[in-house]
Amino acid sequence: MSEFDIINRYFNTQSTHRSDVLTGIGDDAAIVKPLAGHELVITTDTLVSGIHFPAATAPFDIGFKSLAVNLSDLAAMGAKPAWVTMALTLPEENTDFIQAFCNGFFTLAKRYAVELIGGDLTHGPLSITIQAMGFTLPHQAILRSGAKPHDLIYVTGTLGDAGLALKHIQHHLALKPEYQQQVLEKLNRPEPRIAIGECLSSLASAAIDISDGIAADLGHILEASGVGATVNVLQLPLSQALTNTLTAEKAIALALTAGDDYELCFTIPAQKREELEKKLASLSCRFTCIGEITEKPGLQLYNNGSKYHGPIHGYQHF
Ligand code: ADP
Ligand code: MG
Repeated sequence: MSEFDIINRYFNTQSTHRSDVLTGIGDDAAIVKPLAGHELVITTDTLVSGIHFPAATAPFDIGFKSLAVNLSDLAAMGAKPAWVTMALTLPEENTDFIQAFCNGFFTLAKRYAVELIGGDLTHGPLSITIQAMGFTLPHQAILRSGAKPHDLIYVTGTLGDAGLALKHIQHHLALKPEYQQQVLEKLNRPEPRIAIGECLSSLASAAIDISDGIAADLGHILEASGVGATVNVLQLPLSQALTNTLTAEKAIALALTAGDDYELCFTIPAQKREELEKKLASLSCRFTCIGEITEKPGLQLYNNGSKYHGPIHGYQHF
């Protein structure tokens, strides 16, 4: 099959057709019409086989996750996703792989009415680069730099489950069968917190998505905002799967340091707490206050009254 046949057969068959896409897949470049009076928010992320996902990951999950991590970045900005492009490097022409990959990718794209408007297809070691674009109202995007002393720090969902799944896959531990599906899903098919991000755009002072562990990612908010934080590690939201598989100490260490959670960490002024709880109540996603922003720089971790001395370093590529 030629490159163009593959594109037409697998990538140009999506069911999402947005009215703001004037020219999609097929020309030298795409043409879109951004909504008047809005700001455009753009992000890109690459997933390399063996680095960002185990080489044996199911192709459906690779397609799903490569879009999910990009939509998660838009969620962290409070943006509504609209369009994506994809640069795909494939080691071989394996149509079963491509079909399953597209099924995963378009399952998520459809959920958020995102249209794939173009891309590139090359031959080489498996890697997927997605660029995602979305909107916010003017000056409504949530930056990392807006956290202020006394703001409350929240996280969505539970932390450490994707890290737990990875340890299971790598045979560093054995998950009980009743937890396997739920935990592996957190690693392979993370749900981007789009609806929460949109809700937060008028409330949060800062936000980030948790890709490298909460300690590292909250650290980015602190640095960008020129503030510090105190966090009680006993308040970190942990799943039963995590607490019933690991000792309390190891569960906390994993929740702080493991990557790939794709939950949101955000800060809000304390007086907006009630409004936040009201707004998020309808969204069926857990959210938990884990600490407070401080004037004093640095991240202070407490285990109830005493200082926490466990590991805090997240994943780093270099
Ligand atoms: P060009 O040679 O002009 O770069 P390509 O041959 O790379 O064009 O691609 C032809 C068309 O198919 C373009 O519209 C491009 O955006 C689209 N396309 C290529 N690869 C992908 C992909 N993986 N996903 C979506 N669209 C793609
Ligand atoms: Mg090209």
